[in-house]
Amino acid sequence: MTHPANCLNCFAELKEHDKFCYNCGQSALHTHKRITMSHITHEVIHALTHADKGFFYLIKELATQPGLTIREYLAGKHKKYFNPFSFFFIVLGIYVLSNSVLKPFHPAVTSYSPTSQTGQVQYPKEIKTPKQRAKYDKIQTRVSKAMNFFNTKTNIVLCISTPFIAFIMFLIYRRQLFYAEHLVVITFTNTFLNLLSILIFTPLLYIFKDSAISNLLMALMMLAHIIYLSIVYYSVLDRAKTVKNYLKCLGSSFVAILAWGILSMLVVGGYITYGILF
Ligand SMILES: [Zn+2]
Repeated sequence: MTHPANCLNCFAELKEHDKFCYNCGQSALHTHKRITMSHITHEVIHALTHADKGFFYLIKELATQPGLTIREYLAGKHKKYFNPFSFFFIVLGIYVLSNSVLKPFHPAVTSYSPTSQTGQVQYPKEIKTPKQRAKYDKIQTRVSKAMNFFNTKTNIVLCISTPFIAFIMFLIYRRQLFYAEHLVVITFTNTFLNLLSILIFTPLLYIFKDSAISNLLMALMMLAHIIYLSIVYYSVLDRAKTVKNYLKCLGSSFVAILAWGILSMLVVGGYITYGILF
């Protein structure tokens, strides 16, 4: 392999034995003047499977020892792990794609129109006057729009939930970690949990979307979020490993997820009732 005399990124002069540019850190050995398909294949496989800092390595670590992984990252081990924000955007892409294919959020109501095929709408018994019917139509349209919003704009919902949950955790533990550190913790945990929901919950919700099991699945998903988050915080916060301290983490995780749940329900409920926002 020919060793370039100057760094290809910043043109700093390189010595014969330099593995990396002393100025910008770019590899001196593995950077080439022309890009071939074999380089691309190598780079892609490397990014996904490399024992250190790979995408799958991070997933494995977050599945088996999330507390230790995130604690190490916060303590400065950045090169060892895949960047949390790249991780977030890759999973976001997979999430949007899988939701646009599966549409787990009640597709039955996404296509509400006041006039059905027969030209007659079946109103509930208590809806009698034309004014009530008009209001009923309006609300049904908004419900279908809200469901449609969750189907198509999950990326926005996901983007807002991460900084929001981080903010609640910051309010609870502001003496221990900066807001930015909470944001890193929640980016890791939220993204991992969303990946889990893509692989497990979204397909299950799709299968059971018209039965009572879908409510049970939603509850299980919430419970998984709370427990995972509490395990991570129990490890990340440098405190005595006591049952009392764990229960505190469990309580704060519950509050954060609940606050997010209430906020999103208020936003959707507010829209359905008053038609605000959209
Ligand atoms: Zn350089």
